[in-house]
Amino acid sequence: MPDIGLLNGDFMPLDRLMVPVEDRGYQFGDGVYEVIRTYHGAPFQVEAHLARLDRSARAIELVSPHRLEQWRQWIEEGIRRAGYGESKVYLQLTRGVAPRDHAFPSQVRPTAVLTVRQMMEINPALRTTGVEVMTLEDLRWARCDIKSLNLLGNVMARQRAKMAGAFEAIFVRNREVTEGAVSNVMIVRDGVVITPPEDHRILAGITRRLVLDLARKHGIGARERVVTAEDFHRADEIFLTGTTVEVLAVVRIDGKPVKTGRPGPVTSQLFNWFADEYLRPTG
Ligand code: PMP
Repeated sequence: MPDIGLLNGDFMPLDRLMVPVEDRGYQFGDGVYEVIRTYHGAPFQVEAHLARLDRSARAIELVSPHRLEQWRQWIEEGIRRAGYGESKVYLQLTRGVAPRDHAFPSQVRPTAVLTVRQMMEINPALRTTGVEVMTLEDLRWARCDIKSLNLLGNVMARQRAKMAGAFEAIFVRNREVTEGAVSNVMIVRDGVVITPPEDHRILAGITRRLVLDLARKHGIGARERVVTAEDFHRADEIFLTGTTVEVLAVVRIDGKPVKTGRPGPVTSQLFNWFADEYLRPTG
């Protein structure tokens, strides 16, 4: 089965999908995106992803010419056409094709792209060992709540982490932890889950919200408040949340162990609850 692409409503094999050089996504990163994965072949949290796509688009004054229902149909059809057991669907909406000029033209048709590839799970061994992270100054712009195509800050940070042998880069802005390059971050202190609040400094992660709700449902305290670099280094447990990582224990920060250096009990519980609720077949 080929990977599947869709350009402005037309499905095609992904390797045939071409976008003009003057697309503003290519020239300026002038666009927004989402990544949706499937569980048991069905797109996960599709409503929440489409709502976030819409919020991101509005925040950059980009009006999607396609209704949410249209995106949903494309997602379903793309998954069906690709035929993978589990898929990773990428949606991208750019301002469109126009002669290069920073200010945007009034008349331009947004470019809608969708790709479907086979979902690659993270190495299952990491579930038991946990991962190392590297902290880095958050040099990104001040609207990280928008899921924009401008990912250079994330790209550079993730590359630095990779070169240092770390799984993820964790951003620190003014001595406060914000999020990872591709994930949100939470700490556990005295049995309470703490994560930075939803504001312009972080992406309102969909997994983040599900995990906070799960913690509360199971009687674990969950607070959304500032996490200082000091809180981070003193945490009893740390974990990442995100579409690909789900709930993943962090056991080392910049080469130093988090407490015992092994995944903590609250993190493991949360992963198990997440798996019970969403990952395991229902019947
Ligand atoms: N922060 C950033 C910067 C991300 O790229 C992602 C991945 N989308 C997340 C957080 C986690 O968000 P989600 O749980 O919606 O995948």
